[in-house]
Amino acid sequence: MNYVSTRDNWEPSEAKAVIRMGMVPDGGLFVPADYPEIQLNELKNITQYTECAITIMKKFLTDYDDHELKAIISQSYSSNFASPHIAPLYTYDNSIGILELWHGPTAAFKDMALQCMPRLLIHSLRSLEKAVKVMILVATSGDTGKAALEGFKNVDGTRIITFYPSEGVSLIQKQQMITQEGDNTKAVGVRGNFDDCQTAVKKAFQDKELREKARQKGFIFSSANSINWGRLVPQIVYYFWAYIQSVKKGMIRWGDAINVCVPTGNFGNILAAYYAYKMGLPVRQFICASNMNNVLTDFLQTGTYSTKREFHTTVSPSMDIVISSNLERLIFDLVLRDGKIVRKYYEELKQTNSFALDSGPLKEMQNLFYGAYAGEEDTFAIIKEVFHSSGYVLDTHTAVGFHVLKKYREKTKDTTPVILTATANPYKFPVAVYYAITGKKGLSDYEALQQLHKKTSMPIHQSLMGIENRKITNRDIIDPEEIETYIEHNL
Ligand SMILES: *Cc1c(COP(=O)(O)O)cnc(C)c1O
Repeated sequence: MNYVSTRDNWEPSEAKAVIRMGMVPDGGLFVPADYPEIQLNELKNITQYTECAITIMKKFLTDYDDHELKAIISQSYSSNFASPHIAPLYTYDNSIGILELWHGPTAAFKDMALQCMPRLLIHSLRSLEKAVKVMILVATSGDTGKAALEGFKNVDGTRIITFYPSEGVSLIQKQQMITQEGDNTKAVGVRGNFDDCQTAVKKAFQDKELREKARQKGFIFSSANSINWGRLVPQIVYYFWAYIQSVKKGMIRWGDAINVCVPTGNFGNILAAYYAYKMGLPVRQFICASNMNNVLTDFLQTGTYSTKREFHTTVSPSMDIVISSNLERLIFDLVLRDGKIVRKYYEELKQTNSFALDSGPLKEMQNLFYGAYAGEEDTFAIIKEVFHSSGYVLDTHTAVGFHVLKKYREKTKDTTPVILTATANPYKFPVAVYYAITGKKGLSDYEALQQLHKKTSMPIHQSLMGIENRKITNRDIIDPEEIETYIEHNL
């Protein structure tokens, strides 16, 4: 199976090559040339997450042999996850299933992809160019960084640098990164916000001179950001897994339609749901939830994507974003896969900071996607409400999703059973969650973590226990302009 560029500027390539490259060197993202189909019958006998993963992923990763893929998948999803179901579905009520994607080693949903992607990448490298080493460059709004560091830790032939906004992540997120172990890992604070990091890293990727310097030292660059196909393909899996579990738990019957509600930032997670739908998963509506950085809400409502807006630092920092990279992949489909149109839009975006979809694609998008956002108070209120009514603890990102889901249902009266993705463990954002539930402020992350545990009795995620006492291994802080030099020095 081949992959093509959203900007029609690269030859069709197979999965291994695409995963090795990360993004299209001249700008643009790789997407499957067509969508493999799945029959629900293929899912009916599945009882394990790994079986589901093999069934789905082998349809996309046709140049990995079955044996290889099975090994990758069984190593990626095993005791490194704290639940034997890997991504268990919590039935909140008979029409809301909360898909808990945070049982992996870093307590956020990024593990679902990043425990797997480094292995996909290494197999790709070994079969394409045996001697080459890979330098992974990651811009992170918090959760990706740690998950990528953990995924690549001590993986032979790889080196990884993650760039995070030095003041834009929580204390716990920062602590997770700056205490990272592994000889091949670095976490660097950047003075600026996430978009500054992402823009600078993208620039580094496109810098031919830097690429040449890396080559001379035996390195190629690759990304672990959600623009890499190797990140997206493992994420498609859990929507099918959620469906299987919904049937098992009696929420739906085989063939019934579901809705999907996703707290969204870079548009990777919700795009994976859309890809599952394109393969045949019966989804009626995609509910795209944003925080105050509601560029996607505006886009879904008006068809105009505009980055001329204020950047807000919120209590759901992993969704603090103005440029939502994976959206380009959806747009490619909306304009009937005409790469020239996508290129035109993104050139406009670069020059004028905005572009507007034509009415055809806009209508198509609005048929499938509903967008709304939660303000900070909405986020706190829903955490409190859900905890007091059910005892279930939402993290701040999942809370944004829950609020928007509620809003959607009030507005549309659509009661289709819904899968809400829970993207982080609440203990990753304990200050905000504790405040939401108790109204108490002024605690440090570590105090809040303990207090939250006392209040809710929810078990503390194993990766966060004793985190305050770990040894700091990464102290570098730089300006965005220094990113390329920093990379060069670490080759
Ligand atoms: C990354 C992240 C998101 C946003 O996911 P996208 O795939 O970028 O849309 C939401 N919640 C949490 C906790 C995250 O780490």
